[in-house]
Amino acid sequence: MNALDLWIKETHQDSVALSFKVENTLFSGKSPFQQVDIVKTRDHGAMLLNDGIIMVSERDEFVYHEMISHVPLSVHPAPSRVLVIGGGDGGTVREVVKHDSISRVVMVEIDEMVVNACREHMPSVSHALKDPRVELIIGDGVKYVATTDETFDVVLIDSTDPIGPAAPLFDRQFYQNVAGILTEDGIMISQAESPFYDFKIQSAMLANQRPFFNRLHLYTFTNLTYPGGLWSFGFGANALCPLTDFDPNRIRASGIQTRYYTPEIHASAFMLPKFVQENLSDMLDPLPSLDKAFIK
Ligand code: SAM
Repeated sequence: MNALDLWIKETHQDSVALSFKVENTLFSGKSPFQQVDIVKTRDHGAMLLNDGIIMVSERDEFVYHEMISHVPLSVHPAPSRVLVIGGGDGGTVREVVKHDSISRVVMVEIDEMVVNACREHMPSVSHALKDPRVELIIGDGVKYVATTDETFDVVLIDSTDPIGPAAPLFDRQFYQNVAGILTEDGIMISQAESPFYDFKIQSAMLANQRPFFNRLHLYTFTNLTYPGGLWSFGFGANALCPLTDFDPNRIRASGIQTRYYTPEIHASAFMLPKFVQENLSDMLDPLPSLDKAFIK
């Protein structure tokens, strides 16, 4: 008898499907917040799914986690205190702690089952959660930013899509509270979905961020395991520009090892495709063209 022909399938907006060949299930559980599964795929390593939506795969997670972290940490002049909202797999924290200037990372993840499953079955992604600079809080990021008396240089919103417990992470009140705990040079990065499929979510997110940030930008990256491949992050700040305040030599001299992020990728990520510019032109602030940007 042939071995079972097993595939994992994610459908998006009931019109697109993404499938990956599966060898076996490593973890499957129902938390108070979502179904949590980790499968071993044939060609993409271990893969985490929350409620059947692909979160990370070992094969490509470095792209997302390098781009959410090294962009703001290379623009802020001296990043020391970072807040991660969500990020249960630990990949974002792994990239943040590569920066020697970091003294403290607080990660607020609502679902302990995600953290424990990734600790056991995706150690290549979650291993830095053990870093002594990291404080893991199992809790709601919405409540945390509303009640903490700490301030942060960078806040990374590494959330699921705006459904279930993640929905309030796209609300105006949440962004107002994030702006209130950022330091003067503070930067907020938000998971900003697909420029192809999620224009409505992007424009609502940017409209909710607008009152609290002088600067709003979007940058893109490629994601092998997300619908449509092209994905994005929002960059919100009051003072710093992601291009003119970016010193490429700092990250070059840092010795930080990456597999996707480079200073050139940093700059080009903010050069948006024409259709994205046209969609969001009245929501985003202007940036200098590349020839006037930082690359010396
Ligand atoms: N880093 C991954 C990636 O590459 O896309 C995906 C993001 S991570 C798995 C998203 C996390 O956000 C989930 O583990 C989910 O439990 C968490 N989350 C959702 N709503 C939250 C909330 N209100 N507060 C804290 N964490 C939340």
